[in-house]
Amino acid sequence: MTRPTIREIRINPIVPSESVLISTARGMRPRKDEQPITRDTRKHVETCPFCRGNESKTPPTITAFPSEQAWEIRIVENLFPVLGDEDKGTGLNFGLQQVIDGYGRHEVIIDHYQHGIAVHEMSESHLQHLFGVYRQRMEALYASDDRLRYVLIFKNFGPAAGASIPHTHSQIIAMPVVPENVINELEYSRQYYRKHHQCIFCSLIDEALTFEATIYDRQSGEIRRKINVGQYVIERGKRFVAIKPFASRFEWEVHILPLTHHSDFLTVSEEDRADLARIMKRTMTRLESVIGDAQYNFFLHTIPRDGGYEDCRPSYHWQLEICPRTSIPTGFELGSGLFVSTISPEDAAAKLRAVELD
Ligand SMILES: [Zn+2]
Ligand SMILES: [Zn+2]
Ligand SMILES: [Zn+2]
Repeated sequence: MTRPTIREIRINPIVPSESVLISTARGMRPRKDEQPITRDTRKHVETCPFCRGNESKTPPTITAFPSEQAWEIRIVENLFPVLGDEDKGTGLNFGLQQVIDGYGRHEVIIDHYQHGIAVHEMSESHLQHLFGVYRQRMEALYASDDRLRYVLIFKNFGPAAGASIPHTHSQIIAMPVVPENVINELEYSRQYYRKHHQCIFCSLIDEALTFEATIYDRQSGEIRRKINVGQYVIERGKRFVAIKPFASRFEWEVHILPLTHHSDFLTVSEEDRADLARIMKRTMTRLESVIGDAQYNFFLHTIPRDGGYEDCRPSYHWQLEICPRTSIPTGFELGSGLFVSTISPEDAAAKLRAVELD
């Protein structure tokens, strides 16, 4: 099915200060696939510090599952932490040069003992376990120090997504500040809640699952536009839903959210994690099948621990945002702050949904 060329700026419904340009006309940007950087798919690499048997080449193990010897998931300190706990920051502010000490923790989760395994190749039970490890580390880090205000969990997969070590891994950065992206989501969703007494994320999920509309021309009565918001749903499980955002920044971006209202990733239960693992695996399989050799960043946005956001529990909804990297930002994007998408989110969602899974 071919659709007419779209050229429109879409406002992010959650954070209205963010917008994307959907321009399906060719030539908006050079395609990354002209110079593919392939990822390392080997199972075991003798010289890799993250492969089993090379434990002495990394900083000491923080924890390992199921055991230190036969580990499947292992957590270590980052060798080159972007934030550390030496607490030797200058803390000096001068005029417009405001500084916050780079205090924090930076840990690496070696997601799987197999070197080049991709998320869609991991078993559901392994993923369920991995999400459990994320939760456990988040809790432990918050408990370790009162100054930590946000624990960010993310993964860079593949060289196109900035992964510097090819062995599959995620990272955890515990920071003394709440990241601006999260603050924006918290603030805007709180505003929406004050007006509408509804969580905006829940409203979006409701729309995605039920809403259909036809807009008729007032004079001629002809159909001007059919809106089938259900077209944004990629996967729906018992407890989670995977959605293609209407104003996606990245062409193949997909968000996974709990179907019922939950602001805090720390409250996910074992049953939640089982369904999350299933939805994650299915979503990643779809992405792999459509884009091929998918390289991506994903990250978790959840309510920060205290620090002025306790009242956001009814208005904020945690999400896992998956952002596949299929192109490199251009000067236009950096200069304008507008992300450009050359495929419409509706088409992208249709392609992802069309993948047949067993
Ligand atoms: Zn390795
Ligand atoms: Zn909600
Ligand atoms: Zn978010």
